[in-house]
Amino acid sequence: MNGIGRYRRRFQVPTVLGSPVIAKFMAAVAIMVLPIAIVRYIVLGEYILSVYYTVIVALIAADLWCYLKWHKVPINPTVLLIAVEFGAFELIAHHGASAAFWLFPITVAGFFYSSLGVAQVIGSIMTLIGGVLVYRATGDFWFAFRFVLALGTVIVFLRFMLKTMRRLENELGDAVERDALTGCRNRRSFMRRLEEGRFGAGPGSLMFIDIDHFKQVNDSYGHVVGDQVLCMMVEGMSEVLRQQEYLYRMGGEEFAVLLPNVPVELAVRVGERLRRHLAEKELPKGIRLTISVGVESYSTPDEIEQTLNRADANLYRAKQAGRNTVMHPGSVGG
Ligand code: GH3
Ligand code: MG
Ligand code: MG
Repeated sequence: MNGIGRYRRRFQVPTVLGSPVIAKFMAAVAIMVLPIAIVRYIVLGEYILSVYYTVIVALIAADLWCYLKWHKVPINPTVLLIAVEFGAFELIAHHGASAAFWLFPITVAGFFYSSLGVAQVIGSIMTLIGGVLVYRATGDFWFAFRFVLALGTVIVFLRFMLKTMRRLENELGDAVERDALTGCRNRRSFMRRLEEGRFGAGPGSLMFIDIDHFKQVNDSYGHVVGDQVLCMMVEGMSEVLRQQEYLYRMGGEEFAVLLPNVPVELAVRVGERLRRHLAEKELPKGIRLTISVGVESYSTPDEIEQTLNRADANLYRAKQAGRNTVMHPGSVGG
């Protein structure tokens, strides 16, 4: 991502917290509260302030309308929030320290409209400016100090809360995409990766693996040993595949390995290494197991759908050819 892209991203609504519902709620509050202020300033003869807020309300309303209609926000909400904040400064300067209370909800809103870092920086700067203005309005240093301390504490708590929620969100996301028995990624993770197009920009390979005669392990030694053996087989696969993030348990004793940017010849070599390594792996009760592997390649990410089918067909051919085999587009038989 280029510099401008990164800069823009920081201003985007973060995580599920900045969900459209919250953004809509805050826009609605602003649209309902600010007109009251506008009328009041007109009555007080403060026309500049009333025009200022009228423009802001119009922009917030336009943003909300565009969002509801096209799911796009043409004017950055963080920028609007800063404008609202400056309006609040103007209020403190004109009407005294009681207007500083508005800086609390505005600062909190900032954490839902931009990234944590941006919200913290803006919040801290606004707290200091607010403190100075409160001091100028009251002449009471300790009052202003308490204001800065209170708003500063809100920022620290928000930071802690958002960090914790983000960590929990990541942990939950990770748990949902992991297989409970073997710990490797699951079918949901695989499908999501495909949906998001995260399998390399160019050509790559895909491998389907099925453990041979696994049912016999269960039949002879029971499910508990079967589970143990399954975990050890995954361990064996991870020993060969350095990047475990590409190994997925698709269900039962079937696995997929995604090899983005890996040409098919190399993928076949990886498959062979896996096959040999697992065939030699010592398992409980003296069990020995082999795997059958189907390899396929794709030249563009659009082909991934057909690649899945062809890799599955190659796996089937490997089974037909007597198992303990790696089948690829160039191999014959099966
Ligand atoms: P093939 O070589 O044709 O693949 O034979 P197979 O016995 O491996 O294939 P089949 O599909 O007939 O059986 C797969 C077995 O894997 C059936 C099921 O009991 C077992 N299995 C699937 N998931 C688990 C699991 O989580 N734990 C245990 N212990 N067994 C499992
Ligand atoms: Mg199977
Ligand atoms: Mg099997």
